[in-house]
Amino acid sequence: MRMRNLVATVGVAALALTVGACGKEDTPTGSGSPGSTTGGCGELHKFTPAAAGDVAGSATFTKIKARGNAVVGVKADQPNLGYKDANGKRCGFDIEIARMVSAQLGLDPEKIEYKEIPSANRETAIAGGEIDYYVGTYSITDKRKKLVGFAGPYFVAGQDLLVRKADTSMDGGKTALKGKKVCSATGSTPIQRVKDENLTEASNISEFKTYSECVSQLLDNKTDAVTTDDAILKGYAANAPEDLRVVGKPFSTEKYGIGLPLADKPLRDKVNAGLETSFTDGTWKTLYDGTLGKSGSPGTPPTLEKY
Ligand code: GLU
Repeated sequence: MRMRNLVATVGVAALALTVGACGKEDTPTGSGSPGSTTGGCGELHKFTPAAAGDVAGSATFTKIKARGNAVVGVKADQPNLGYKDANGKRCGFDIEIARMVSAQLGLDPEKIEYKEIPSANRETAIAGGEIDYYVGTYSITDKRKKLVGFAGPYFVAGQDLLVRKADTSMDGGKTALKGKKVCSATGSTPIQRVKDENLTEASNISEFKTYSECVSQLLDNKTDAVTTDDAILKGYAANAPEDLRVVGKPFSTEKYGIGLPLADKPLRDKVNAGLETSFTDGTWKTLYDGTLGKSGSPGTPPTLEKY
């Protein structure tokens, strides 16, 4: 069966498994490695929850503590970042960061309740109290900062293009998009940039809830490119190396933050302190190397923006 038919019907998560099952891209262990782009999710990092404490003045923490676990918003179709395999297991860099934050708050990461929130619904989910925090390729922007708080950044990506492997017509990067069909996710910074900068004609832009839907469009020749962060696109390319590739000319700076309720500065400071510790004690690097590092993005911790 053609790969594009599979993607179109059952999605990229299933594609990853199919590729693994064919033995084309399987990992040597057969069970996948942490955050693997191929096969299922492997072992996750073992965090030891901090001693139960308090985050003075944090309404969110009070809620989390009373409940006994964190409710975290994530993505589920972004290999090496926020990914859910066919067995329902989650893995990837964002998942590990979400687990680390839970442990640093003194709560068992195994007890996290995950909610899949697409790009367009993040601010509403955070502001409405549906989730305690969000970890999912969420760029810190001034516009979003009016609605939610951000700890971080914990990673910096850049907007890029995913194209069909043999198509060299967009190798120039963003200026080569004119006259081309492009697909991205509703409510994302990349689709906004395509519109704001008039990178292609409005009639050429298609948008979906998730990027994996755009990847299906690309494999089905219904769009010419998928645009979003290189970190996300590299995961899709790694899952279909014979069909897809990333152009590799990033044209924005996407600083990934942990989304938090706007007014909860005590929690923001606490999460920033935890990120800082992970940057210096090697934890960030361990998590990165086991997940996102596998799809070939640069791997040094960024500088935190404490505000
Ligand atoms: N980082 C970009 C954003 O926050 C694109 C990825 C995403 O949609 O999650 O909009």
